[in-house]
Amino acid sequence: MSNRLSVLSLIALLLCCVGSLSAAEVSRRWVYLQLNLQVEANVAKAVAIAKRAKAAGYNSIVLADYKLNILDRVPRHYFRHVEQFKESCRQLELEIIPAVCPIGYSDGLLAHNPNLAEGLPVKDAAFVVRDGTATLTSRESFLPGGDFESFREHIASGWNYQDFPKDASFIDTELKHGGRAALRFESLVGRNGRVIRKVAVQPYQLLHASVWIRTDRFSTAGNMRMMAIGADGRTLSYSNLGVKPTQGWRQHHVMFNTLDNTEINFYVGCWNGGDGRFWLDDVRLEESAFVNLVRRDSCPLKVQIEGGRELREGVDFAPLADPKLGNVPYSGSYDVYHEPPKLRLLPAAKVSDGDRLRVSYYHTVTIYENQVTCCLADPEVFRVLAKQVKLVEELFSPRTYFLSHDEIRVADWCPACHRDGRSAGELLARNIRQCAAVVRQINRQAKLCVWSDMFDPHHNARDKFYLVQGDLARSWEGLPDGMTIVNWNHGQASESLPFFGKQGFKQVLAGYYDSDPRRIRSWLSLGDDDDGINGVMYTTWTGNFDHLEAFAEAAWDKE
Ligand SMILES: [Zn+2]
Repeated sequence: MSNRLSVLSLIALLLCCVGSLSAAEVSRRWVYLQLNLQVEANVAKAVAIAKRAKAAGYNSIVLADYKLNILDRVPRHYFRHVEQFKESCRQLELEIIPAVCPIGYSDGLLAHNPNLAEGLPVKDAAFVVRDGTATLTSRESFLPGGDFESFREHIASGWNYQDFPKDASFIDTELKHGGRAALRFESLVGRNGRVIRKVAVQPYQLLHASVWIRTDRFSTAGNMRMMAIGADGRTLSYSNLGVKPTQGWRQHHVMFNTLDNTEINFYVGCWNGGDGRFWLDDVRLEESAFVNLVRRDSCPLKVQIEGGRELREGVDFAPLADPKLGNVPYSGSYDVYHEPPKLRLLPAAKVSDGDRLRVSYYHTVTIYENQVTCCLADPEVFRVLAKQVKLVEELFSPRTYFLSHDEIRVADWCPACHRDGRSAGELLARNIRQCAAVVRQINRQAKLCVWSDMFDPHHNARDKFYLVQGDLARSWEGLPDGMTIVNWNHGQASESLPFFGKQGFKQVLAGYYDSDPRRIRSWLSLGDDDDGINGVMYTTWTGNFDHLEAFAEAAWDKE
C-alpha cells in the first residue's frame, strides 16, 4: 500500500512538473529593443528601459538597431551614444545581444548594394526598336474596361465580375478622374467591393497595374488592394497601396511577375469594407520593363535580336541599370514603381527601326510596406555580412548574436539560388549555415539565436510561402548545433515547441507581441520538459514597454 501510494505521489509529482517551468528554468530573460541609437533622445529611453528591465529581473537586451548594419557610415556621435548605453548595461549586468544578418527584411544589407535583392526572372520580353530605343511591343492595357466609360445601368463593361452592382457599386458620372465616369463603392460594411477580370498573360512577364482612387471617410482604406492571382491560386502581388481614408484622386501602383502562369485573375478594390465611400477610375494593367532591375553576375541581362545574335552591353547597347533601385529615398529603400530606365541601342548593334528584340533579365519586387529580401546565395551577401559582423564584434564583443532571419518572402529565383534538384528548404539551410559560419569566423565562442518562423514547418517553412519558389521544408536541417530558437509561433505552440525540442535546440519564447502580457504563462505551461525552453523575450513591435513588469511577473516568480 505504502509502495503504491509513493508511486501515485511520484506520478502526481511528475504530472505537476510537466507543463510548468520553474522560475529557475526561465533563466534567459530578454527584452527585444528595436531602437535607433543615433537619435540622442533614444539613448535616455534605452537606458530607462534597461533600468526597468533589471529591476523586473531581466538579464539581457536584444538590440535590434538598423544602424548595426551600417556601422561604417554612421556619424561619430552614434558611437558615443552606444558607449553610454553599453556602460549602463555593464553597470546593470545586462548582456547586450546585437541583431545581425538581416535576411528577410534586408534593407540594412541592401544599403551596401541594392543589386543583392533577390531577382525574379523575366523571360524573352518582346521589344521593337524605334529611334534607337527599344520599347515593349505590348503597349495596350489588359483591362479594356478599366476606364469605366462603358457600362449598362450600374454594371461596368469589360469585367468578369463586379461586387454588388446597384446595391453597393455604382457608375458615377459626376465624380470621376478621366472621361465621363468612374466606379463608386459605398455601404460595404463587412463586404467586398471589387471588380475582377481574367487576363491571358505570358509566363515570366513583368506587369504594372495602376489605378486612380478617391476616398471619402472610407474606414477600411488599408484593405484596398490590386491583386493578381495565378491559376494555382498563388497570389503574385503583395504591395500595399497606401490608400488614405479621405484622399483626392491619387494614382497607386503594383508591380508583379506572372511567374509560370498563362492566365491570372486581376482584382482591384477593397476586401472586408467599412463605412464611407471610394471611387476607382482609369485602371490599367500593362507590360512593363526594367523597374527595379537587378544587375549582378548571378542575374544576367540578355538582349537578343529576335531569332538572331545576342547584343553586347556597352558595345551594341548602352549600359543598363535602374538608378532608383533600392535608392528611394535612401539606400536600402525600394519603392513599388518608378519611371524605368530605357534600353538604348548603339550604332555597332546595326539594328533599324522596326527590328525586334527579345530581352531577359531579373527584377525585384516589394512586399507589403516595401519589404525587400536579399538573395540567399550570392557570395557577395556573405562578404557584406562579414564586414558588418566584424564591426559589431569590435563595438560590443558580444557573447551572443541574434540572426535576424525572418519572413523571407521572396526566394529561390535567381541562378545563384535556384539549382536543379535543390529545394528552397535546402537553399535556406545552406544560407543559415553560412550566416552562422560568418559569425563564428569572427567570434569562435559566440552563442547564436535566430527567429523560429523560417525553420518551423508549422509556421513559414512550407510550400508556396509568398513568392518563394518551391518548398521551404527541411530548412531546419541547416540550423547548427547549439542554436537557440527564438520561437514566436504562439498560435501552433503544441506542434512547434516539440518540433524544435526533439531536435535538441534550446528555445526562448518571444512573448507579449503587443497583446496581453499574461499570455506568456499559458504558453510556458504548454512546454514539455523535453522542449528545451529556457527563456522568454518581451517582444514589442510598437515600442510599447508599458507591460515589461507585468510580463516578468507572469513569466517567472519574483525572487
Ligand atoms: Zn538569389
